[in-house]
Amino acid sequence: MCIDNYQFAGKKAIVRVDFNVPLNEQGQITDDTRIRGALPTLKKILNDGGSLIIMSHMGKPKGKVSKKYSLSQIVDAVSMALGVKVQFADDCAKAKAQADALRPGEALMLENLRFYPEEEGKPVDIEKEDPRYDEAKKEMKARQKEFAKTLASYADCYVNDAFGTAHRKHASTAVIADYFDDNNKMLGYLMEKEVQAVDNVLKNIRRPFTAVMGGSKVSTKIGIILNLMDKVDNLVLCGGMTYTFMKAQGGKIGASLCEDDKLDMALDILAQAKAKGVNLVLGMDSIVADKFQNDANTKICASDAIEDGWMGMDAGPQSRQDFAKAIEGAKTILWNGPAGVFEMPNFAAGSRAIAEAIADATKAGAYSLIGGGDSVACINQFGLAEQVSYISTGGGALLEAIEGKVLPGVAAIKGE
Ligand code: AMP
Repeated sequence: MCIDNYQFAGKKAIVRVDFNVPLNEQGQITDDTRIRGALPTLKKILNDGGSLIIMSHMGKPKGKVSKKYSLSQIVDAVSMALGVKVQFADDCAKAKAQADALRPGEALMLENLRFYPEEEGKPVDIEKEDPRYDEAKKEMKARQKEFAKTLASYADCYVNDAFGTAHRKHASTAVIADYFDDNNKMLGYLMEKEVQAVDNVLKNIRRPFTAVMGGSKVSTKIGIILNLMDKVDNLVLCGGMTYTFMKAQGGKIGASLCEDDKLDMALDILAQAKAKGVNLVLGMDSIVADKFQNDANTKICASDAIEDGWMGMDAGPQSRQDFAKAIEGAKTILWNGPAGVFEMPNFAAGSRAIAEAIADATKAGAYSLIGGGDSVACINQFGLAEQVSYISTGGGALLEAIEGKVLPGVAAIKGE
């Protein structure tokens, strides 16, 4: 079912959102992006005359009730954002009466789902190595089904709009879908947009396709790099992982970041790119520093000839030009991970050059997807968020999707 075709009038909809928003010491929200992200779906249901049951997790309370992670802290902010007074159920597994009493246009928010270990479905207080673990896991999976069934009993239909947790097979993100037929479960608008964005870079690719992968380590990006290798025309590998590639090829990298156990993997990636005709672009020059600080002494040198005691901190001028060239003219662009230690202003130029080249290419008609933590922070820091096609809200979920993994939260509804 598609949310736009569903008749919510007179129906109760239980909606999984990702309201895992950051709070300060006083319990005030410091960034409400996630709440704003779910509003189109929530408002649509209320405006259509449906009643809303909102459910989410917050933080990692590990299956225990904890004031610190209570969603009661954000209920006023959600009421303000939605424009209706949202009621609160302080036990998410005992909210049937409150849900039943909801009238059209009314909303109820459930307490943090992760106060129940059933939400994640993992045994608590028992280590994986313990011989009793498998038995405990089996029992917890059965309890997870019961928990999901209870949540499902509150509503006529289920909407999943929590892309941030779509890569988890939890009670509220996937298991609950088993208790609704295909005509009564659907993705929310945010999820639809995210799924579309991933399709744009994995399936409906307009060529040339340039992927830019940066960040600190190659080890955390291997799955993605390998999956993209079959799809991209240009692959820019930048950031800290540059030096693992340089060392693997016999270069001198001084005190730069390096994963010595990934040297063979780096050579394999280079060989695969060659065999597949992918234009793999590495930053051949770097801004190097004599310490890991913004006010360090710096100089520019070849990325494979860094003196002892110096470390590669950012892309050099030649690299920036090479990266921009690979991005310019692309019709599909994916960017994950900064090209340098962008948090320090003196080492942000490489990431800025990438962000600007992506903005220019987007203006010229390219589809650009930015995702995964730090590149989102970069694009915001450079004030270019409005000049790219889409910024993903899901870190881990986006990366798993790009690795080619099926997301349980999406599969539970679309059956893939
Ligand atoms: P990741 O979480 O793997 O995407 O990595 C993001 C982090 O990589 C950011 O905090 C950057 O500061 C860091 N990073 C990027 N380039 C370098 C570099 N050359 N040396 C050390 N850290 C880097």
